[in-house]
Amino acid sequence: MIPENVKKILEELPEGVQLVAAAKARMPEEILQAVEAGVKYIGENYVQEAREAFKLVGHQAKWHFIGHLQTNKAKKAVEIFDMIETVDSVRLAREIDKRCSAIDKVMPVLVEINSGREPQKFGILPEEAESFIREIVQFENLKIMGLMTMGPAFGDPEKARPNFIETRKTFEKIKALDIPNVEMKYLSMGMTNSYQIALQEGANIVRIGTKIFGPRESKIL
Ligand SMILES: *Cc1c(COP(=O)(O)O)cnc(C)c1O
Repeated sequence: MIPENVKKILEELPEGVQLVAAAKARMPEEILQAVEAGVKYIGENYVQEAREAFKLVGHQAKWHFIGHLQTNKAKKAVEIFDMIETVDSVRLAREIDKRCSAIDKVMPVLVEINSGREPQKFGILPEEAESFIREIVQFENLKIMGLMTMGPAFGDPEKARPNFIETRKTFEKIKALDIPNVEMKYLSMGMTNSYQIALQEGANIVRIGTKIFGPRESKIL
């Protein structure tokens, strides 16, 4: 099933759109199957889980961190990840910078936008994105490359559209500012239930789990 699912999604995605296979709660063997079927980017929410899968899959794919990164996990995270999609505080940015500096690495990052303005969700409010980026651009071992947003995970996917539109507008606004050392290239939006809408609204990274691997046993987000 996994290889067929991957091939189908890759065929239907427009040129230039990256598929990140959201792999939380999956077995390393399942992730390897997806990679062998053509997945080039794996999204992980938990550093420890990623380390287990990395032992099997290694550099056959690139690793995107898509969960909430705690600062005390940053050291281990920067060792394996190729991109951190969820930078949401100056404190975290500083820690990633420090840990990357120690291993001589420059980490591509996306800024997580709390487009739903939900107080319980992580991320920077759209109107604060510019000042946030102007603040973290000082960190030389970070490379700001775009924005990421979650949107509602369940229910009518049309409900996510306004969130995607607002994130896209924020993306374009920051891009137009041409801030030195900021390269607004990636807009990561959309999951299994909402990626078609996200694509219509300008996403060029989609993070898909269920449609590749099947339903998760538990609804962990
Ligand atoms: C789980 C998850 C996804 C994928 O969710 P599905 O509904 O299984 O496609 C995408 N992004 C993030 C941040 C996730 O945690």
